Amino acid sequence: MDTYYFDNGATTKVKKEVLDEMMPYFNEEYGNPSSVYFLARDAKKGIEDAREKVANLIGAKKQEIYFVGCGSEADNTALKGIAYQNRNKGNHIITTKIEHPAILDTCKFLEKQGFEITYLNVDEQGFINLNELRNSIKKETILISVMFANNEIGTIEPIEEIALIAKEKNIVFHTDAVQAVGNVKINVQEMGIDMLSLSSHKIYGPKGVGALYVREGIEFEKFINGGHQERNKRAGTENTAGIVGLGKAAELAKLNLETHIQNMKYLRNYYIEEVQKNISNIKINGPLNARLSGNSNISFIGVNANDLLLELDNVGICASSGSACTSNDPTPSHVLTAIGLNSEQIKGALRITFGEFNTKEEVDYLIQNLKKEIQKLRG
Ligand code: PLP
Repeated sequence: MDTYYFDNGATTKVKKEVLDEMMPYFNEEYGNPSSVYFLARDAKKGIEDAREKVANLIGAKKQEIYFVGCGSEADNTALKGIAYQNRNKGNHIITTKIEHPAILDTCKFLEKQGFEITYLNVDEQGFINLNELRNSIKKETILISVMFANNEIGTIEPIEEIALIAKEKNIVFHTDAVQAVGNVKINVQEMGIDMLSLSSHKIYGPKGVGALYVREGIEFEKFINGGHQERNKRAGTENTAGIVGLGKAAELAKLNLETHIQNMKYLRNYYIEEVQKNISNIKINGPLNARLSGNSNISFIGVNANDLLLELDNVGICASSGSACTSNDPTPSHVLTAIGLNSEQIKGALRITFGEFNTKEEVDYLIQNLKKEIQKLRG
């Protein structure tokens, strides 16, 4: 059976160029980057070149990039790092109701440690309200963390405006840009971003590696104690091959950004138009503009998206339900709940996220099968 992969928001296939670049670091350039001999220096050089490429992708300085184990670790490091560093200045953090669990669960943990968290509301398209943000700031506020783009409905938040508000009040501004990096033009200097999380496996790099950007001069408590790697901020022998892969993926993402955005928009818009033409009783979730170009989220009313996913799986289609409903987690999606969807709309939500390897022909196959399966499930 052929594979039709439409879950690029969950993860992406590693590009061949990325894999080729990584391979020598497994069994040729295998030295521990902290050692002194030539083999170690080669590995160290691979890491430093990658740092430069990641910095380039987001307009940061090389020394502002810290390699970590994943996007979740970058988020944990940002939140806990700022919280612990500044706990004698204040204990209040502002975030949103639609963040990824990497942020929300970390916030819950920090609440148990005595921090107070404000969770901003979003409107029916997933945008925060800047006045609500302004009004939530107190003298104890030490951090604002708002995601760059939402992973379920693709909403791109007003990042520059948020950064400005944070700057006026001298509060650190962090953004979880795991979904946005490689899909949106980002320049941390121009946009006023203080900290940013990114993850390699969302941009055609390997899994198990990510990066945290921290503006020079911002102090944060280290998250993993141990050796002196990553300028004493993240202990552990580096995942050299993974970091090199992230570097290559970042280089390619920068090179292809404009074309990538246009291609993703084309496929996404074609998909939505075809759904509208072929399937009745639907609701498109999330905004039309200020949205990730490869993201779509549509509720098929009267259908349980989990049943639909199983049917699609049988014909080789990989997609994702807009809701977090799994057999072990019956909680409906916190994002779709926050934008005000009713339970039937949440239950029927299907997230299709496009990537570089998708074609128009694949979208035709998807539409043909969606039409058939939805008809069947609606009885
Ligand atoms: N933040 C967002 C918005 C995400 O979409 C994800 C992953 O889906 C993460 C954080 C976590 O990234 P990782 O899987 O690298 O831990």
